[in-house]
Amino acid sequence: MSLAALKKLVPPPKPPDVDDFDARWKEFEKTHKRKLPRDYRDLVRTYGEGLLAGFYLLYSPLAESPWLNLAAVQERETQDLLQLRGSSPDRCPFPIYPEPGGLYPWGGDENGNTYFWLTSGPTNTWPVVQYEPRGTGFLRHDCSVTAFLTGVWKGEIQALAGGYPPITLRCPIETCAGWAKGSAAGPWYCEECSYEWNDREEMDASIEEIIAARPYRAKCYVQKDGRYAPAPSSKEPKNYAELIEAELED
Ligand SMILES: [Zn+2]
Repeated sequence: MSLAALKKLVPPPKPPDVDDFDARWKEFEKTHKRKLPRDYRDLVRTYGEGLLAGFYLLYSPLAESPWLNLAAVQERETQDLLQLRGSSPDRCPFPIYPEPGGLYPWGGDENGNTYFWLTSGPTNTWPVVQYEPRGTGFLRHDCSVTAFLTGVWKGEIQALAGGYPPITLRCPIETCAGWAKGSAAGPWYCEECSYEWNDREEMDASIEEIIAARPYRAKCYVQKDGRYAPAPSSKEPKNYAELIEAELED
């Protein structure tokens, strides 16, 4: 999965301005005798360290903050994992870096979960292991960091957060010109008319109903993997607000 696919789903902020990015990256790899995956380097170069896509925290070998600096986080995480293994040996089913093939952290999230590589095999094929300490524990995903994040945004990998990634759709309620907010798994809500839907199924049923009643509304949605997704705003009728207002008069 390429970085291009992720950039379409999650537009990068502004390109982070880092002097000597490549030289400093190489220096890190040399000092720590540790090659890092190419896709991760491109990801850090594109999105910068820290908050990514409103939820994830990307660590970087170049970060100054001890909370984001790859080497600093790795040392802390290794201590934490060793402690976990010491107190409950069954909970950590993977080796821990610097053990061969051990877990090595590349990111976190706003809910306090950690994301690792399993450093076994060729660097560019290291799988991702997510760790939710207060929940599902460790779960392995056989894909790169970039493919993992893309999978989450496509709804193919379940995020460790309800309501993520957020989706915004035109509210399918008669006479409402607002936007409904929700996610693949969570509930939906429209701030304009205060209507609530329990889940995506209810939202899709609601959209089907309004399209049957008001065919022009179909232009606000596209069908994607059997679900309704937002259509590009250029596809919506130019006089959308007027059309909605006309619904009031019926
Ligand atoms: Zn509404």
